[in-house]
Amino acid sequence: RQEVVLVGRSNVGKSTLMRELTGHSKFTTGKKPGVTRQPNHFDWAGDDFMFTDLPGFGFMSGVEEDRREEIKTDIVQYIEGNADDILAGVLVVDGKSVVDIIDRHSGPDEIPHDVEMFHFLRELGIPVVVAVNKMDKVDDRDERLNDLCDRLGLMPPWKQWSDVVAPISAKRGNLDALEEALRTHFHEQKRDDL
Ligand code: GDP
Repeated sequence: RQEVVLVGRSNVGKSTLMRELTGHSKFTTGKKPGVTRQPNHFDWAGDDFMFTDLPGFGFMSGVEEDRREEIKTDIVQYIEGNADDILAGVLVVDGKSVVDIIDRHSGPDEIPHDVEMFHFLRELGIPVVVAVNKMDKVDDRDERLNDLCDRLGLMPPWKQWSDVVAPISAKRGNLDALEEALRTHFHEQKRDDL
């Protein structure tokens, strides 16, 4: 059974996106920050794979640093252990704040979580789509997306990377870019299998 994993920092809108993708309106989102969450599995209408919602990583108010590290280790182990069955990884980020957060956490001995996760997935050979969420709040769209590409090591302009960078608004149900990007990767893999 193949799966698409969703990863992202807390509060980027991962639960909202998951709900929109799967149409499961009633699934509980583990709303309390830091509450241990097992991977959640959901079917995508009509297709023979599932979405796996992994716990949010990074800063969560009221959650100890040690616990945050444990959560990240769990995520990494889940992905490594299931890499062969993972069709794609969706890294969900908040379009409004992601570049600032990356810049704040970039340094000689610090790699921002989002950048680390992006490269981690790619190194395992898992195609990554960065779902840049909350685009309804972003005014300077092209500039923001170009900056994000730059931080991820993708040469701008972002429009060249439409299979990797997918600007969306989960809350408004505007997911076209993500669905299209995912479709490209599925088709590529099917071709590879022939
Ligand atoms: P999670 O912690 O990543 O699962 O985030 P949630 O899905 O709980 O969303 C966190 C907050 O962001 C909530 O207040 C959502 O309503 C809001 N949110 C989610 N998606 C969007 C979006 O596309 N646009 C805007 N403006 N807010 C969003």
